[in-house]
Amino acid sequence: MAYVITEPCIAAKDKSCVSVCPVDCIHEGVATEGEKSIDMLFINPDECIDCGLCEPECPVTAIFADSDVPKQWEGYIQMNANMFRGK
Ligand code: SF4
Ligand code: SF4
Repeated sequence: MAYVITEPCIAAKDKSCVSVCPVDCIHEGVATEGEKSIDMLFINPDECIDCGLCEPECPVTAIFADSDVPKQWEGYIQMNANMFRGK
């Protein structure tokens, strides 16, 4: 399991989640989906320890446990993981 950042972060990107993460696994990046660039913060699922500290910090409710991601944003689970592939 891991926590996942979803669409509302795109407009906010205030990074208040970054400073509370004890394992420093939240990073800014740009994902591409078709012709669209998605510039936001992402969580490395291999490093996330599921502490949940980031979730209440987000002012736009963009962070969810992967099992609780709303249906319309489920694609973000893979998108977060893809950002860290090969790193
Ligand atoms: S706190 Fe929320 S909006 Fe701010 S950077 Fe983190 S996920 Fe994005
Ligand atoms: S759940 Fe904890 S370890 Fe995972 S990204 Fe959030 S603050 Fe970091």
